[in-house]
Amino acid sequence: MLSERAKKIKPSPTLAVDAKAKAMKAQGIDVVNFGVGEPDFDTPEHVKEAAIKAIRDGFTKYTPVGGIDELKDAIVRKLKQDNNLEYAKEEIIVSCGAKHSLYNTAQAIYGPGDEVIIPSPYWVSYPDQVLLNDASPVFIKTYEEDNFMLRPDVLESKITKNTKAIILNSPSNPTGLTYDKKTIEAIAGIALRHNIFIISDEIYEKLVYDGAEFFSVASLGKEIKDKTIVINGLSKSHAMTGWRIGYAAGPKEIIKAMTNIQSQSTSNPNSIAQKAAVAALNGPQDFINTMRAEFDKRRKFLTAGLNSIEGVSCLKPNGAFYAFPNVSKLYGKKAGDRAINSSLDMAMYLLEDAKVALVHGEAFGDDNFIRISYATSMENIKKGLDRIREALANLK
Ligand SMILES: *Cc1c(COP(=O)(O)O)cnc(C)c1O
Repeated sequence: MLSERAKKIKPSPTLAVDAKAKAMKAQGIDVVNFGVGEPDFDTPEHVKEAAIKAIRDGFTKYTPVGGIDELKDAIVRKLKQDNNLEYAKEEIIVSCGAKHSLYNTAQAIYGPGDEVIIPSPYWVSYPDQVLLNDASPVFIKTYEEDNFMLRPDVLESKITKNTKAIILNSPSNPTGLTYDKKTIEAIAGIALRHNIFIISDEIYEKLVYDGAEFFSVASLGKEIKDKTIVINGLSKSHAMTGWRIGYAAGPKEIIKAMTNIQSQSTSNPNSIAQKAAVAALNGPQDFINTMRAEFDKRRKFLTAGLNSIEGVSCLKPNGAFYAFPNVSKLYGKKAGDRAINSSLDMAMYLLEDAKVALVHGEAFGDDNFIRISYATSMENIKKGLDRIREALANLK
């Protein structure tokens, strides 16, 4: 009954954990939820007001498919000001979230026989979006000792005549690590040498800590800018996950194809959310600093706590809002007759025994780790850490 395409696709595993945790909560169980992939902050008030005004003004009809000019202007200005990138409006498309921008990109440039390089651990939607477009994901493992950055020499060794693109995500979900400039330059050089695209998912650019500096690979020069599709959005920077506004910036021809694809699938992103996004990009940005300062406190507390637990080790993440501890030293141990041999066993044990929800690393392509989101209150982080500590101490 189903297409081959549909059969290849799994539901997003991060959403599955969230759903299970919510179901336990609905039964009255007090679950600490470290599974979430969205800021726990409310959308800023002036952004909400802009949306309310849009409704009152009757701005409730179809808009141009790729977004209203006012929003594209705001994005052009943002890219110039924050990232030193010059784009024209025809090089921008607004979509229903950054995920949708990534999907439109996949539709516009991947095809049968194409290989798309995905450094692992990776964000869950990358491989499936490649598969949905009849191309093949090629995973390249990255290591803790490299701060989970792709090794340029390994990258080069995996490139074939079929390689179409590399997907970069810095700061990274799930590792919480940010690429350094030297590595990005090396990757850009390889991409140019082999004429392959870089899809640069920059959704966490505003969330960097410990003096880590974000910069876009596209800002390294005109040549690499012409081979890069920059993906960004409002979900993480402005706590706007539900509004569904993301965007892509790239070569005009590709953006035009993406716009045509969007015109035959979703049409324009929500008109009201577009007005809200204009307010978010053009209005005061102090909200971001407040949010980042709070994330930073939690990040320090959480990573120190995790590293004080026997058998757990965690790099100090310098981006996004995730910690990605290695728990593989505990594999082979048991709680009663329950054996812990994988990240899924670990996540299920911690959910059922400690009432702490988090995501197993296998979902992101590395079974030695679990992902802990600190987009939750300090109180929850303390409670969750205590529970994890106690549950892991019971492993024999
Ligand atoms: C959250 C997230 C996105 C998607 O953001 P939306 O704008 O909500 O679609 C894209 N990439 C990564 C790595 C993310 O974590």
